[in-house]
Amino acid sequence: MKNVYRKWYAHRITLGILLICLLVGGANALMNDENGKHDADENGLSNEDIQKLYKGKNALGHIEQLVNVGPRVAGGDAEKKAAKYISRKMVSYGLDVTIQKFPILYFEDKGSTLKVVNGHSLNPNTLFYSPSGEITAQIADCGLGYPENFTTCGASGKIALIQRGEIFFWQKVQNAANASALAAIIYNNQQGNFTGTLTFVTDIPAVGVNDTEGKYLVKLLKRKTVTGKIKVDTITENRTSQNVIGTMKGKDPEKGIVYLGGHYDSVSSSPGANDDASGIGAMLETARLLSTYKYKNKATLNFIAFGSEETGLDGSFNYIEKNRKEVSAKGIGMINLDMIGVGGKRLIGNIDNNSSNLTNYTRNKASAMNLGWKPFTAEANSDHTYFEEAGVPAVFIYQSEDPWYHTSNDTIDKINKVKLEKNGELATATIYGWAKNPQQRAKSGMPAGAASSLKKASVHHDILYSEE
Ligand SMILES: [Zn+2]
Repeated sequence: MKNVYRKWYAHRITLGILLICLLVGGANALMNDENGKHDADENGLSNEDIQKLYKGKNALGHIEQLVNVGPRVAGGDAEKKAAKYISRKMVSYGLDVTIQKFPILYFEDKGSTLKVVNGHSLNPNTLFYSPSGEITAQIADCGLGYPENFTTCGASGKIALIQRGEIFFWQKVQNAANASALAAIIYNNQQGNFTGTLTFVTDIPAVGVNDTEGKYLVKLLKRKTVTGKIKVDTITENRTSQNVIGTMKGKDPEKGIVYLGGHYDSVSSSPGANDDASGIGAMLETARLLSTYKYKNKATLNFIAFGSEETGLDGSFNYIEKNRKEVSAKGIGMINLDMIGVGGKRLIGNIDNNSSNLTNYTRNKASAMNLGWKPFTAEANSDHTYFEEAGVPAVFIYQSEDPWYHTSNDTIDKINKVKLEKNGELATATIYGWAKNPQQRAKSGMPAGAASSLKKASVHHDILYSEE
């Protein structure tokens, strides 16, 4: 992931320098517009109009509906129910709605247990993509889990105990499987518990335990034969997820498309009120407002509720894959809303930080609307990522920090109604202003073409890491 990302980043710096040179001539005209002053034209909505018409209460109502279907795990029934709700709302606002289906690998952890026969019960975490299994066998200490460790540790027909470090989790587990081990326990090489992903479905079940439990087993094995009982209960299967795309046609649709998006799936343990029903609720209210106002700016607006973001940005990746031509030829901006209802700081940025004209435009817009903000460099961790990689100017609006992130406490009562409303107003004013003069945007945007080097490489936020 990192290599792909870095290469692309370097490429963009070169392009950025070129673009600055090209833009010097038209800089004055552009700057006036970038200040947001010219946006309050006679025929359109001013920032103040938008602030008056935008109802945070409606956005909150959508969050409530989305939370009520239960955790919206990618590929699950609740995710499909949520998609139906979003689609119904979009239709009621007069948008042209398309559902884009795409395959994903669904994974659900139903829990794991680990017990030393005639001894302690330990506290394992299932490693992401571990298959199910129930095994009672001797435990063998196999060091760091390199192939050479398995020539001496005698893991065949046993449970391999492996220390974390140096090579990937999946390598350790597959090396154990190749040595005919029946299951693997990886113990931490630093204090505390850890969770992680095997990246793909391995041949044998695997769990992680903390360093104390790992060292306890190592010590025990030095003294005697130890039999362990390991049980992993997971579901891994191919399923279907979906993006919900609502199109609001501009007056001159050939001139470009501006995207406003967020993800509506959530992690299994969480109601996902802030992450990211907040972004979807705000986006739906933007769609309502602009359709009620009979939107007639030049560029077309695509409102996208992405599925399967939490599995590794599958929804936005699949959108770009399927619509590569449209995105390259017409995409002039993408606004991503992810986690906009909790946290003290409003962060506005993109992966390449200051190089994006849309990011600067959004920051200026926030200032013009008297909204405090801080710049930040976004990571490849949400749905702006593949749009940026495809050459579309993108901006990520995000509130930091959410103490209930990816927990069962990410509930609707934690949503700050004022922040939700203000961020919704900012997104609305930004997309509205940006869609007014698409030709200028297209010229000042990053040239398309990077899409051909697009690779699915990223993981969401920081919960899944396939590190050693
Ligand atoms: Zn999120």
